[in-house]
Amino acid sequence: MSLLRAENLTKTYRVGDIDVPAIKGVDFAIEPASFVAFVGPSGSGKSTLLNMIGCLDHPTSGTLRVLDVDIATLDRRAAARFRGEHIGFVFQDFNLIPVLTVFENIEYPLRMVQKWPTEKRRAQVLRLLDAVGMADQANKRPDQISGGQKQRVAVARALVSQPKLVLADEPTANLDHDTAYRILELMKKMRDDFETTFVFSTHDPKIMGAAEVTFTLEDGRLQDGGHHV
Ligand code: ADP
Ligand code: ADP
Repeated sequence: MSLLRAENLTKTYRVGDIDVPAIKGVDFAIEPASFVAFVGPSGSGKSTLLNMIGCLDHPTSGTLRVLDVDIATLDRRAAARFRGEHIGFVFQDFNLIPVLTVFENIEYPLRMVQKWPTEKRRAQVLRLLDAVGMADQANKRPDQISGGQKQRVAVARALVSQPKLVLADEPTANLDHDTAYRILELMKKMRDDFETTFVFSTHDPKIMGAAEVTFTLEDGRLQDGGHHV
């Protein structure tokens, strides 16, 4: 079983009475515990593809199987449940909750979505804080830490419910080059430690060398079948 498998996948947005094709028939397969980049310029379809993989949007045609589930069969509620159970997200602008501490931000999915009991939550948050090197910053708020540190917290939050897959749309776009590299190295280490698949997008060709498998998107089409770096 592939973790992700797309066959002749398309997505066309309808804007008024105009069709905007964003993904134009792509095929790919991604195996468990991979470290994968989708690379391409702005407008090439990266967000559209990641949104479909994250069950945030339905394909227009073709099939996309995530953990062997055809995502077109999931209604809104089933998609939300599937995401909560299996997929973690990392964002370009970190999306931490400003009024919560680092600890509370990482804990949030366990408290609000998974409803783990207090002690089990605490142990899991401490484990993740340690894994991303933020144990000594647990009581700070997001505005008291650097961009690189915020993204480390976001990586911890994405992993805290032990998802099979983490999706990161342009996770390094707001970081300087060295910090970007450190975040990708951290994600790769998390992949090694937790055997979670990471799929990230970037418009920055300099960053793509950090991935183990790269797919290049150009105007909604894949330029290769998955290049192993
Ligand atoms: P990228 O993430 O690589 O910048 P996107 O997936 O955001 O690319 O966009 C791919 C194409 O789809 C672009 O032509 C964009 O204008 C269009 N597009 C993206 N989102 C929407 C939307 N919600 N409605 C209409 N068109 C969209
Ligand atoms: P990291 O080393 O965590 O990847 P950076 O390279 O962005 O993050 O920052 C290096 C160090 O500078 C951080 O560990 C942090 O202590 C400090 N720092 C940077 N920006 C800030 C900030 N806005 N507030 C507090 N400390 C900061």
